Amino acid sequence: MITEIPTAKEFHDAGVNLLYLAWDIAMDLLRGSDGKYTGAELDEAMLEEYWQKSQIALGNALSLIQQSMELGIKGRITAISPFILISTEHSKWPTIDASFSDFRTIDAVDLTKVHNAVSTAPLDDTFRAFFDDIRRQRNKLMHSVPKDTFEPGTLIISVLTAAETLYNEMPWPERCIQQESQSRVSIIDGGETERNRVMNDIELALKYLKPAQAKRFLGFDKRRRAYLCPNCYATANRDYADDFPLLAQLRTKERSETTLDCKVCGISSVVERRDCKADECKANVLDDEGMCLFCQHDNFIRPATPTV
Ligand SMILES: [Zn+2]
Ligand SMILES: [Zn+2]
Repeated sequence: MITEIPTAKEFHDAGVNLLYLAWDIAMDLLRGSDGKYTGAELDEAMLEEYWQKSQIALGNALSLIQQSMELGIKGRITAISPFILISTEHSKWPTIDASFSDFRTIDAVDLTKVHNAVSTAPLDDTFRAFFDDIRRQRNKLMHSVPKDTFEPGTLIISVLTAAETLYNEMPWPERCIQQESQSRVSIIDGGETERNRVMNDIELALKYLKPAQAKRFLGFDKRRRAYLCPNCYATANRDYADDFPLLAQLRTKERSETTLDCKVCGISSVVERRDCKADECKANVLDDEGMCLFCQHDNFIRPATPTV
């Protein structure tokens, strides 16, 4: 009898965790190269050396993306039947009762083919090519000294591509909020800086995405103005930070539009369309207390003091 049969959810959750770990490695390295976080801009030569010395970490992140995708696809196959994952090489099967993990499972190279043979929602050719490419790169990395240099931007796009197909029950930024709430840092600071971290990470990731990629993966239009989300602002820790990424956008380009959609928390806020009075600020999107959601200037209209 086979015991300890894994569930689709177990595969899915383990895959999500590995993918987030890959994202976290990429983000950590990006923060280390960014003057906003280090307090000092690295010059070109220093940056080159920095990325050279980051290759092992970036390679590890690539391996995590590959493993995550394997688990994600295995989870989808398991939802149909976990037994499809067991290799049909019967001579290698255990002879008595065995745990599922004692069986050899099908090779990674066959995973997408097997998935598409049994699933009603097949993986498309573009994703299958992407999966094969990451798998090949990872194998190269495991068996030789890599000559290719890993780019952090490529890794970010790879994480987002994997998430878009295999873990798409929620947008990636919301996934980040969920993952951060379970992170070791939230144990230390009681979750106070979770939102700040996610907002900063999404802002950082956007620097590496082309406009079409920003729209596809994060729903963010790089050609349009962005504002501070009132919900993220209220949730973020404001004791140590006063500069918040602008990651919410008006739903339409209409001058009368009052719905502001946040690309991080996914919440829509109703805003007031009134000119900000700050010098040089041309924005006209205020929160319900009159704070400019572009420059944070206070435009609150205080009731006139009654005259005696
Ligand atoms: Zn928000
Ligand atoms: Zn303003």
